[in-house]
Amino acid sequence: MFVDCHVHIALDGRDSKKWRQLIAEKNYEPVKTALELYKDKGIMAIRDGGDNYGISLVAREIAKSLGITFRSPGWAIYKKGMYGTFLGKPVVGIKDFKDLFTELLKVKVDHLKIILTGLVEFECYGKVGGIGFSGEELNYMVQSAKEKGLPVMVHANSSIGVKMAVEAGADTIEHGYFLSDEELYMMADKGVVWVPTLAPLGNILEKEELRRRYSDKIKNIKKIFDEHLNAIKKALSLGVKVAIGSDSGSLGVYHAQGFFDEVRYFKRCGICEEDVYMMAHKNGIKVVGLDSGKSEF
Ligand SMILES: [Zn+2]
Repeated sequence: MFVDCHVHIALDGRDSKKWRQLIAEKNYEPVKTALELYKDKGIMAIRDGGDNYGISLVAREIAKSLGITFRSPGWAIYKKGMYGTFLGKPVVGIKDFKDLFTELLKVKVDHLKIILTGLVEFECYGKVGGIGFSGEELNYMVQSAKEKGLPVMVHANSSIGVKMAVEAGADTIEHGYFLSDEELYMMADKGVVWVPTLAPLGNILEKEELRRRYSDKIKNIKKIFDEHLNAIKKALSLGVKVAIGSDSGSLGVYHAQGFFDEVRYFKRCGICEEDVYMMAHKNGIKVVGLDSGKSEF
């Protein structure tokens, strides 16, 4: 069984605007088709990163009928005014979070997804969108989830962002671009799983039409990607648990195929295919909670 630890079923990687329009009209056929594709490829456990429509909750039901384990955060949580609009719902502060968290518990989400920082910016090497939450806010949100037995998935880039997330008790770090050795040691020490999501940048570099689209930024993208591969190599040597999450749905990363793209890029960290699959399975089932005899659904 393959596990993809990071997808967005509410996006499709080709024409997400059209995809989202269909979803807004409650046409869930494309979502079902995508899930069938996952099943065809043997990807039987999927963790979603959230969307503002809460479509991952609908997808969870469809997945269940197909025998797929699908973990949904409902909506991701982001700081009002910062990155995250199409991935979740905004909160201004702790009071707001409390209300939203009550809603999330009502729909029985499988994990809490917090968007702590913005995206990697391609214009300038090392630059990422700002940090949304204070340490106090982040700690409060993570602790609230823990009290309810929910794992926490944190979107974090930059050394400072990743450090904050690990210190607050995140179970998984998503993306983690531009982290430093210090955070890798911390992750190894605390058993935090890193989901580095190589496929979005890897596919930009590999697909001709995307290369053209980003032609003026391609040098930086290559540098960012190569440095990320180096960080993963280092992480593996330090014993950090690293998992396969394709970020399928993001531009150029297609559902189901994204998992295999991610595996292919992982091999560039100097690990053979067999070991990538072993690691993907072992850490993947841990991330989706299937390693401790927890029921499939
Ligand atoms: Zn994502």
